[in-house]
Amino acid sequence: MSVVLLTGAERILLGGPAWEEASGDLLIRDGSIQAVGGDLAARAPGARVVDASGLTLMPGLVQTHVHLCQTLFRGLAEDRSLLPWLRECIWPLEAAHDPDSLRASVELSILELLLGGTTTILDMGTTHHHGVVFETLERTGLRAASGKAMMDEGEGVPVGLLETTLDSLRESFDLAERWDGAADGRLRYAFAPRFVLSCSDILFREVVSLAKDRYLLHTHASENSNETDVVERLKGRRNIEYFEDVGFLGPRTLLAHCVWLSDREVECLATSGSRALHCPHTNLKLGSGICEVGRLRDAGVHVSIGCDGAPANNGLDGFAEMRAAARLAQLKSGPGSLTAPDVLTMATLGGAEALGWDDRIGRLEPGKDADVIAVDLHTPHATPVADPLTALVYSCRAGDVRHVLVSGEVLVESGQAVRMDAPAIVREAEKQAQRARERAAPEVPRLRPGAVS
Ligand SMILES: [Zn+2]
Repeated sequence: MSVVLLTGAERILLGGPAWEEASGDLLIRDGSIQAVGGDLAARAPGARVVDASGLTLMPGLVQTHVHLCQTLFRGLAEDRSLLPWLRECIWPLEAAHDPDSLRASVELSILELLLGGTTTILDMGTTHHHGVVFETLERTGLRAASGKAMMDEGEGVPVGLLETTLDSLRESFDLAERWDGAADGRLRYAFAPRFVLSCSDILFREVVSLAKDRYLLHTHASENSNETDVVERLKGRRNIEYFEDVGFLGPRTLLAHCVWLSDREVECLATSGSRALHCPHTNLKLGSGICEVGRLRDAGVHVSIGCDGAPANNGLDGFAEMRAAARLAQLKSGPGSLTAPDVLTMATLGGAEALGWDDRIGRLEPGKDADVIAVDLHTPHATPVADPLTALVYSCRAGDVRHVLVSGEVLVESGQAVRMDAPAIVREAEKQAQRARERAAPEVPRLRPGAVS
């Protein structure tokens, strides 16, 4: 039996939407929260003790849209809008991955995510080697739903990523059989047809027919106006209407971006219970537009938050993403349309709800899995703390996270990774990034020898 006691927290934020507070200790037994608040030392003889004095405990951040496979390409896909960004940079770089470079990318991502207080993600991979992603997730302790990207057609899709419909389905199901529910349920499979412009009708329809009842479905939708125009031209209807027609929408369907939507499309999302995944920094950096979070929420669409891929961000800091979401909502829907408690709930319990994991995570209460982070609010950039929720959303940074636990496992203690060798991971990432860049150079103009970067 494993017992962990977080001691002496200045405050314990139990979670959204009400964000009640306690203080003192938090007791974890066999990965589950057993008691919250007060002096619990007498109930935890022999426990592993983690000092949380002066810190704020809260549920770990849940990011519902990331690409672990892309982190190795941070800084290599600048100054482009979505389709050139994919076709000229990201796809050729993904096609240059081998298992070693993919592993290095995933390890680097997980290290950054854990050190910054993210305990759960929804990940979309590249088309090949995806077993490496799950093996690394299993070993490092992050909670994740993940799936290989499915790409069986589309303009600009490189040969190295293109797959047959049958191979795409077969490989996805093999991975789902192997990994869905693995690591005591910490890992799940999410089918991931990349987006309309890289997947055939038959692929979408087969995923709906074979996978929709058992697995999460994860894709991109309506990120950029040019993309939505091309979808409309090719399919004869708007992006979300296409998903409705092929049966892709539903409560287990998660759609990244949802920036360019007609009123009818918003209604489709709301009535089907489909989930919107808001990635504000990516939308800004690729010049895509600003998701109307207030409009979606008012219509009854569930919205959660993610950093997307590192080359579009250029980081995986969940605190920065919350801040961007909060600020952009004031601009788009008016001051007060999305409060700090609202954003913090979207980034914790909201993410858990989107993934169907809210029975296990998202709040700190007895019986839930112990996905807990401890944040230092006594920093020059967050002091004075007039309201802790406001400080967490508008002032705190990834580097303010001191301890991180997933299922009661201490993965970060005093700002240091426990299971992962951070310096070695950074060194390996540099080495593998260089090799991947060399492999990709013939296909990526800016990486060719002599090119001006
Ligand atoms: Zn994405």
